[in-house]
Amino acid sequence: MSALKLEEKLFQNRYLVDAERPHIRIRAPSVCEKQCETQPCVVCCPAACYSREGRKVSLITDGCLECGACRIVCNVHRNLDWEYPRGGYGIQYKFG
Ligand code: SF4
Repeated sequence: MSALKLEEKLFQNRYLVDAERPHIRIRAPSVCEKQCETQPCVVCCPAACYSREGRKVSLITDGCLECGACRIVCNVHRNLDWEYPRGGYGIQYKFG
């Protein structure tokens, strides 16, 4: 039996998206664009929830693993509102 790759394991997870209330929000997008030199959220997120077009950072929380890494690396400007999804929403891990 071959071991699953990380991407294959992540694909097994299921998400219930709370379309009315994303659980992470960028407070001031202009701060990311104009003041955050390194934009670490774009490279730290294992689910690639953050993307960059030029200097503009976008966030889509649908595949979020709720690991909290983005909240930790956004420690210079503290520009994220971060909370766990409401009960019943968010990720459902298949492998624990
Ligand atoms: Fe990505 Fe983790 Fe932040 Fe979710 S909590 S957006 S998976 S870095």
